[in-house]
Amino acid sequence: MAEREDLFSKDEPLIIAGPCAVESEEQMWSLALKLRKMDVRVLRAMFWKPRSSPESFQGVGRVLLPCIEEIKRKTGMHIVTEIVDGEQINEVGDVVDIYQVGARNMQNYELLKKLGMTSKPVILKRGLIATTEEWMNSAKYIGEDRVILCERGIRTGADSMRFTLDLNSLLVVKNDHGMPVIGDPSHSAGRSDMVPHLAKAIIACGADGVTIEVHENPEIALCDSKQQITPERFGVLLQDLRQLYTLTSGTAMTEELVA
Ligand code: PEP
Ligand code: MN
Repeated sequence: MAEREDLFSKDEPLIIAGPCAVESEEQMWSLALKLRKMDVRVLRAMFWKPRSSPESFQGVGRVLLPCIEEIKRKTGMHIVTEIVDGEQINEVGDVVDIYQVGARNMQNYELLKKLGMTSKPVILKRGLIATTEEWMNSAKYIGEDRVILCERGIRTGADSMRFTLDLNSLLVVKNDHGMPVIGDPSHSAGRSDMVPHLAKAIIACGADGVTIEVHENPEIALCDSKQQITPERFGVLLQDLRQLYTLTSGTAMTEELVA
């Protein structure tokens, strides 16, 4: 089991990568092996997808749980999955090391309370129009000592982008609340060409890590095909992110800068 603190280091950003959704065994094996070679330690393996439209792909569900269990055993990677219903906590059992609460569920307090009764780290994504105060309150429902906050962009009315990545929020939650925080350039941009730039901005801003959607063949991905990047592009980006992190080490603002 992964303890939250073990996921972070002063030398390396926390890198979480994988597709928007688990689609097939072949997809997950091929991608996981590539990511492992790049020394990525946390794999996105989303079985359930909360989608804005009921007509969109809703996820494969637990059928591919044994496949992910085998990938975890062979690669030693930690597995993160989004929990959309409290029942799924038991369903995924020990296969999952880190739970995720999606933006649309940030204020699903009953779900947060159920996750609060577990002992694993929980990535809490910021709600689509949530203030940092509301986000912090949601973290309290789970237990602040187990939460990793994730800024994923908010609605600002700017229609040139799907969501606006709010870098200020990274600084607020990190510096005012001392919480570990990562950023998601994939869902904020909604466009693969913007992902590397936003990912670098997130690390440059002093975040502790990123979660990035990677797919070997984005054009045929069953969801979020426009924003997923290939493992090749991800590999290049990863080098930049690791290098940038040596300058920041997840330190949002140093004492001198604040003074
Ligand atoms: C996700 O990370 O898989 C996701 C659905 O993101 P969000 O909840 O931020 O839209
Ligand atoms: Mn997605």
